[in-house]
Amino acid sequence: MPIFEYACNACGHRFEFLKLPAATTVPSCPACQSQNLERLLSGFALSTTDQTKARAKAARKQTLESKDYKDAQVARAEEISHHR
Ligand SMILES: [Zn+2]
Repeated sequence: MPIFEYACNACGHRFEFLKLPAATTVPSCPACQSQNLERLLSGFALSTTDQTKARAKAARKQTLESKDYKDAQVARAEEISHHR
């Protein structure tokens, strides 16, 4: 599910908004309820590019090294073959 980042044009508050596929609600600023928002490119905001890259790298490393992740995949594969 995409998480969009918004900046409020009314008060400058920045927040992330999780957009559900079925949701038709318009996001509003949690600080001042304004709907005068500017959508930022989530994860690629200019000021946080380096931070995002570092975070993505760390997350990827963590996923690859995670034993639980592999175990979960094996367990799921075994479960599927078991049910066939
Ligand atoms: Zn606001």
